[in-house]
Order: sequence, then structure tokens, then C-alpha cells
Amino acid sequence: MARLPKLAVWKFSSCDGCQLSLLDCEDELLAVAGAVDIAYFPEATRRVVKGPYDVSLVEGSVTTPEEAERIHKIRRQSKLLITIGACATAGGIQALRNFADVKEMASVVYASPEYIHALGTSTAIAAHVEVDFELRGCPINKYQLLEVLNAFLNKRKPNIAAHSVCQECKREGHVCVMVAHRTPCLGPVTHAGCGALCPAYDRGCYGCFGPMETPNTRSLSARWKELGSSRDDVIRAFRTYNAGSEAFRKESEIHEAL
Ligand code: SF4
Ligand code: SF4
Repeated sequence: MARLPKLAVWKFSSCDGCQLSLLDCEDELLAVAGAVDIAYFPEATRRVVKGPYDVSLVEGSVTTPEEAERIHKIRRQSKLLITIGACATAGGIQALRNFADVKEMASVVYASPEYIHALGTSTAIAAHVEVDFELRGCPINKYQLLEVLNAFLNKRKPNIAAHSVCQECKREGHVCVMVAHRTPCLGPVTHAGCGALCPAYDRGCYGCFGPMETPNTRSLSARWKELGSSRDDVIRAFRTYNAGSEAFRKESEIHEAL
């Protein structure tokens, strides 16, 4: 019998939500377990099979000196390395530290800040090692994860659209909250993948899938201002789960400098 590809799932600084998306596959989980050898996945099993691994899924961002070292070791052990979620692809909500003085914050938050050995930044995995594919979302969409795994196991390109949430919104037939209700929405600059969940409930998108492939953040910010959003509203909108992504970071910094 042919050897099954070895799958490893690694955690860095994160909430575990994206790993749970894999466990949440329920109906498909048995098929996944039959297609790969789950060699390392502490969230799901105590079994540990030594590397090298055919596919590594990496959740979380790099926020400590240990993590900055460990990701290189994982890269060396992995034929394919796929990052999953906003933390791994953009630094996550913890990238808010990139705009502040971490030492000063630690001294306010912790009684004994001398025990905190964190880096001054939270960065995406791709800032440290070569990444074969980045799957976005906070958390990721489990069907997109299955598609990415299926594609790599069958040596084809993943069919993951990089266009905006607006296109999903139109496809689903939702009324545009920005046009109909003047509700600020980040959908025009946000990566598709959620099926336009928030507009389906008459809420604006707040960008949890991060920037789409060609985000025109300048135009969208101008529109938000026409709708009555303040400078601080715009900064806050671009500084959530994907604050560390280049497009959202740059846009927030432009408004901060105003
Ligand atoms: S509601 Fe938001 S995501 Fe949907 S079309 Fe309007 S701007 Fe785009
Ligand atoms: S509409 Fe936007 S904020 Fe809501 S789930 Fe989708 S990407 Fe995330």
C-alpha cells in the first residue's frame, strides 16, 4: 500500500480557532483522516510521528524569540508549508502591538513584566520563512481549508478566489448595506471566503479575511468619510484582526498621520 502523505499542524501565537476549523469538518473528517497520515496535531491527538512532513499547516503569528527560531525548524521539516488564518497570514489581533511600545504596555498590564519575553512585534509566518500558500480568515473557512488540502494532495493549484467580499455579496443576492443604509463596510477591500456573512445580517464587513488581491483602501476610506466616519473610525476599522497586513497597516498609518 502506498504511503499516505504526512500532515502536521503547528500552533504559534493564536487562539486555536483555525485548528478547530479542521476538527469542525465533521462530515469530511474521516475522509481527511483516510487521505493523510496525521503525524503531528497536538490539538487532536497525542500521537507524534517524527518529520519530515509532506504538508504542514501553521496557525498563529511569531511573537516570541522562541517562535522566531521554531518556524525555521518547521520549514526545514516540511515539503509544503501552508499558513492558516489572520494570525499566521497577517500577525493577527496581536499585531496591534506593532503600533505601540510593548515594554510600556507590559509594565502596565503585568505585575512582574520582567518575566515577559515577547518580541516588540507580531508578524506573519511569511515574514520569517517561505510559505507555499496563505489561507485567510479569522477563523478560516473549513471548506476552503478542505479545498487547499485536496489541491495540494492532488498536486494542483487551490481554487481560492482572491477577489473581494463584494463579489460574494452580489452572488448571494444581498442588499449592499453601504448603498442602501449608508453603513460603512470593508467588503470592497476584503478578501472573499466567508460568503459575505456580515452583509447577510445587514452589518458592514469588518475585514476579518484581510485584504483582497488589489485593495483600493484609499478610495474606500474616502467613501467612509463621506458617510460620516471619523479619522479614528477609519483607523480602528483597519486595525483589527489584519492590522499587520501591508495594505491595512499603510491605510491606518496614513490616517494616523492626519
Ligand atoms: S454590503 Fe459591503 S460587501 Fe456587500 S456589496 Fe456592499 S460594500 Fe460590498
Ligand atoms: S463579511 Fe467581512 S467581517 Fe464578516 S465574516 Fe466576512 S470577511 Fe469577516
